[in-house]
Amino acid sequence: MADVAFDDRGLIVSCASCGQKNRLAYERLGDETRCGQCKQGLTPPAEPIEIHSTADFDRLVSRSSLPVVVDYWAPWCGPCRMVAPELKKVAARQAGKMVVVKVNTDELADLGTRYNIRSIPTLAVFGGGKEIARTAGARPADEIERFVRQAAAPTAARSR
Ligand SMILES: [Zn+2]
Repeated sequence: MADVAFDDRGLIVSCASCGQKNRLAYERLGDETRCGQCKQGLTPPAEPIEIHSTADFDRLVSRSSLPVVVDYWAPWCGPCRMVAPELKKVAARQAGKMVVVKVNTDELADLGTRYNIRSIPTLAVFGGGKEIARTAGARPADEIERFVRQAAAPTAARSR
């Protein structure tokens, strides 16, 4: 799982070169940024990020400049284990283009209730602060990427 923390203003990531913690502002997640200490380029999160609080989830989806792919899952769910490595591929290949997060609906039951998640795994795409698409069931990485691109395309066109 990605070594990422959340604060009021963005994601806190460690520099791969010097270990310095840097903040990637939610509103500029897709921008190229450099480490404040050693000036090496910072890579955006390239692994799924586990969400541990509803407040973190709300801050990210309401302000992220990138589409946020949400995997609603639970530890006891077999198909969720099948989709996990596919999401890892998506996160690695789409780093800087989308953010992949995981919501354990046992741990964050309030989010499952709020979004009326009836089965898991459910994949949802958030753009511009709201849910723009969802699909239920396990999918291979290619299909997930296509699903997100199709969902996010009209949002990107509107904001241009
Ligand atoms: Zn650094």
